[in-house]
Amino acid sequence: QSNVVFSRSCTVLLLCCISIKLSLSFSIVPSSLNSLNLHGYFTFEKNEFAARDFGNQFHSLPLAVLHPKKVSDIASTIRHVWQMGPTSGLTVAARGHGHSLQGQAQAPQGIVVNMESLTGQEMQIHNDGVSPYVDVSSGELWINILHECLKYGLAPKSWTDYLHLTVGGTLSNAGISGQAFRHGPQISNVRQLEVVTGKGEVVVCSEEKNADLFHGVLGGLGQFGIITRARISLETAPKMVKWIRVLYSDFSTFVRDQEHLISSEKTFDYVEGLVIVNKTGLINNWRSSFNPQDPEQASRFVSDGKTLFCLELTKNFDPDEDTDTDKEIERLLSELSYIESTLFVTEVTYVEFLDRVHAAEMKLRSKGLWDLPHPWLNLLVPRTNIHTFAEGIFGNILTDTNNGPVLVYPVNKSKWDNRTSFVTPGGEEEGEDIFYLVAFLPAAVPSGGGGGGNGSLQNLLNLNKRILNFCETEKLGVKQYLPYYTTQEEWRAHYGPRRWEALVQRKSAYDPLAILAPGQRIFQKSI
Ligand code: FAD
Repeated sequence: QSNVVFSRSCTVLLLCCISIKLSLSFSIVPSSLNSLNLHGYFTFEKNEFAARDFGNQFHSLPLAVLHPKKVSDIASTIRHVWQMGPTSGLTVAARGHGHSLQGQAQAPQGIVVNMESLTGQEMQIHNDGVSPYVDVSSGELWINILHECLKYGLAPKSWTDYLHLTVGGTLSNAGISGQAFRHGPQISNVRQLEVVTGKGEVVVCSEEKNADLFHGVLGGLGQFGIITRARISLETAPKMVKWIRVLYSDFSTFVRDQEHLISSEKTFDYVEGLVIVNKTGLINNWRSSFNPQDPEQASRFVSDGKTLFCLELTKNFDPDEDTDTDKEIERLLSELSYIESTLFVTEVTYVEFLDRVHAAEMKLRSKGLWDLPHPWLNLLVPRTNIHTFAEGIFGNILTDTNNGPVLVYPVNKSKWDNRTSFVTPGGEEEGEDIFYLVAFLPAAVPSGGGGGGNGSLQNLLNLNKRILNFCETEKLGVKQYLPYYTTQEEWRAHYGPRRWEALVQRKSAYDPLAILAPGQRIFQKSI
């Protein structure tokens, strides 16, 4: 009994020591940070913005926010934390545009680096006529990069559906949209990075130079360094876009056509898809401002409780030069087996198309519906299991999609570089050359909305759990995109033994004290 009492006393003493040490270090930290010679500055109060993100479910206040003006500000700060040693408990999180879903850009009682303060640095476009690129600050929003590049008739090749995200934020994940089948994700379209490691070193890396860090940082969830600059490949910018939607009632036909399109040389420029369950007003949803050429015909379509699948396509064209676009579209569509009377076409500028979700954002903001909790679930499903997945989920577990869109579209695995930190699903065997992105993108409404409170946060989280459980029970080999796990065991399973080993090795090489990106909850800084 005396042993038990002794060990309890030791534990209490240890906890007291830790908390005294923490409170001591937290009280001296502000003054030690303020003593750093910076071009930017720290704020220690009113940092609520750094405790928020788009997911709106996790809220951890940092101790301080760094508003850097130069890369050296970030390097000095991290070097300072590194020199404080493993026991300071202090962590550092880069915050892009804060569009994470579960606090991934937060640093509880640590330092958040407001990457958007770095954007004063100029974007530099290089056009040799063969392989143009742009050098940008990592805190730059993709929408700003688009506008700048368009001045030179150029544009990045690979996008996300929403452009008000930072370069550093999307490159730390992947950056996937309907162009990825052809160009790969955004992480496949980067030539060079400048990175500040967890030791405060500034390193320029590429395929040729410091390649391990370069690959590690891409899709690396902020674990190995803070990206400060990126060199992004460009192409000649399209001018106009024919934006097309067609409907299917049969999932197999829908995915067969999707796979046909992404496997063909001559094809559309963008291929995505949506699942529509029990919904009216099918063609317009919050993701886009789609104005069908025949709105009356479009409004006649209701799903009557059925599950329908909407294939979304675009073809870029230049009205002054391309005279055969309509013929080419007709030819491509003739190879597809959609419900005949469900062809909707609209014409918009390239910028209008790429910035489509922002238009919807403005509408939702005006109704106070943008800042709701977003319990999103993004999954990567191997091609060989997509039918089992669809059978189990669509119209069965998922009986309503009124709370947000559900996306389903395939990408070609060959466009993903397996030297990066990104984890693709499925093995190397036959049929695994394609995988699917399936994204459930609801917003939780405070009252739970209609339909018996189906849209409450708790119900939506339960739904996500049921979906994940189904994938687990059926052993579908599904990986999470923008992953969220609470234990290291789950992270190990996510990466698999070989990739986990590589991750741990890279962590010990570039951020041995586990200072960076604590909000991902992969590694914990020792205290
Ligand atoms: P943050 O949320 O600020 O940061 C994300 C993570 O990256 C954090 O761990 C952070 O610490 C780290 N980080 C941020 N900047 C850096 C840096 N410079 N260096 C190192 N680490 C850094 N994703 C897609 O792939 N395709 C889509 O179509 C898509 N659409 C979206 C639409 C909406 C409306 C939203 C909210 C998100 C969407 N996403 C999409 C997800 C999005 O790509 C990620 O959430 C991305 O991380 C957001 O970028 P951010 O700048 O807000 O990053």
